[in-house]
Amino acid sequence: MASLEELYREVILDHYRSPRNRRVLERSNAGADGSNPLCGDEVRVDLLIEAGVITDIGVTGHGCSISQASGSMMGDAVKAKALDEVCRLTDRFKGMMSIEGAADPGLDPERPGAVLGDLEALQGVRKFPVRIKCADLPWTTLEEALGIYESG
Ligand code: ZN
Repeated sequence: MASLEELYREVILDHYRSPRNRRVLERSNAGADGSNPLCGDEVRVDLLIEAGVITDIGVTGHGCSISQASGSMMGDAVKAKALDEVCRLTDRFKGMMSIEGAADPGLDPERPGAVLGDLEALQGVRKFPVRIKCADLPWTTLEEALGIYESG
């Protein structure tokens, strides 16, 4: 029987090999570039935001399996979500990835019973502090894109 860790590794590899939302958007109104020099990861996030909702997202870039899989999962997680919900999800994800977030990582306090889905597969990365930056990179880049959008 596959252990949870093996299962998580499969989920991460699946997103790495077949990334979701990996394209340059024809129409976008927000975006940012992020990089993690420690590992050589680069991520570009493009967003189409309409009436306070992320209606389309493109995540491109290159780097290690953790950073690219995290970007793929993030695209799936935030698409068609309202911006305030995206903020909560970002906090939730970063909380899960922090050492303090180790307890009960998958549950969203706003919606009891809700889970982070595939994103939970990344919690194993916590054991490798150097790689946490890899997993966080797409989310940090998303936050930057939203910050630019909101201030512009
Ligand atoms: Zn990396």
